[in-house]
Amino acid sequence: MIEIQDLHKQFGNVEVLKGIDLVVKESEKVVILGPSGSGKSTLLRCINYLEYPTQGSVKINGNAFEDKNRKNQEKHIALLRTEVGMVFQKFNLFHHLTALGNVMAALVTIKGLSKVEAKQIAEFNLEKVGLLEKAKNYPSQLSGGQQQRVAIARALAMDPKVMLFDESTSALDPELVGEVLRVIRGLAEDGMTMVLVTHEMKFAKDVADRIVFMDNGVIVEDSPPEVFFNNPSTERAKQFIMQED
Ligand code: ADP
Ligand code: MG
Repeated sequence: MIEIQDLHKQFGNVEVLKGIDLVVKESEKVVILGPSGSGKSTLLRCINYLEYPTQGSVKINGNAFEDKNRKNQEKHIALLRTEVGMVFQKFNLFHHLTALGNVMAALVTIKGLSKVEAKQIAEFNLEKVGLLEKAKNYPSQLSGGQQQRVAIARALAMDPKVMLFDESTSALDPELVGEVLRVIRGLAEDGMTMVLVTHEMKFAKDVADRIVFMDNGVIVEDSPPEVFFNNPSTERAKQFIMQED
């Protein structure tokens, strides 16, 4: 589903990703762990082309989205963004739109659906995250956990093949983390292909098929959770696990 080959990303003179190879199969759940600044967010952002690779390739479902022709490239990337949903630490909802309006927006503007069709799909996905009864609320009338669930519904409404989560519970008060993790876990059980960056170690252990441990712009370990947490093969991973526990 995702095939990353020799991915490099440089900001100015600083190389932040130094040759990443990663394959994520359909339905697989990959959790990316690693110290702050190791390049986790940059990697996720390269997967849906919020950042352009400096070198190497990212393919989704066999398609590379590079095209020398700029117009074509923009079209490819718009298509890619509908196939790869991303949920960030901050919820990034439109404050002047209701929960329903937030989930409908891209269905109308990007997918070109009628308002009636968009509303149906939006309601279905709000229901999925347990928020249909809050459809008419504005973001300011929702808790952080509810706002993040709306953000998840908005991504799901596009019918993505892959979901990326970048520390999607890190900005939440502790008592609101559980409701968001439950929604993500539900998606995992439904078979969604997912790449997650998280600091929730217990969640990572439960949900991940594989743990990818990054440090300083490279993948240091790539192993099943029971191996990674019980018997990490590098000193850096051992230290990281001790700190996080
Ligand atoms: P992580 O998510 O693992 O904490 P990031 O991918 O956010 O790490 O960042 C990795 C490194 O890249 C950091 O040193 C960060 O300062 C740098 N970086 C990230 N984005 C940019 C950018 N747009 N411009 C310059 N440097 C950046
Ligand atoms: Mg980050």
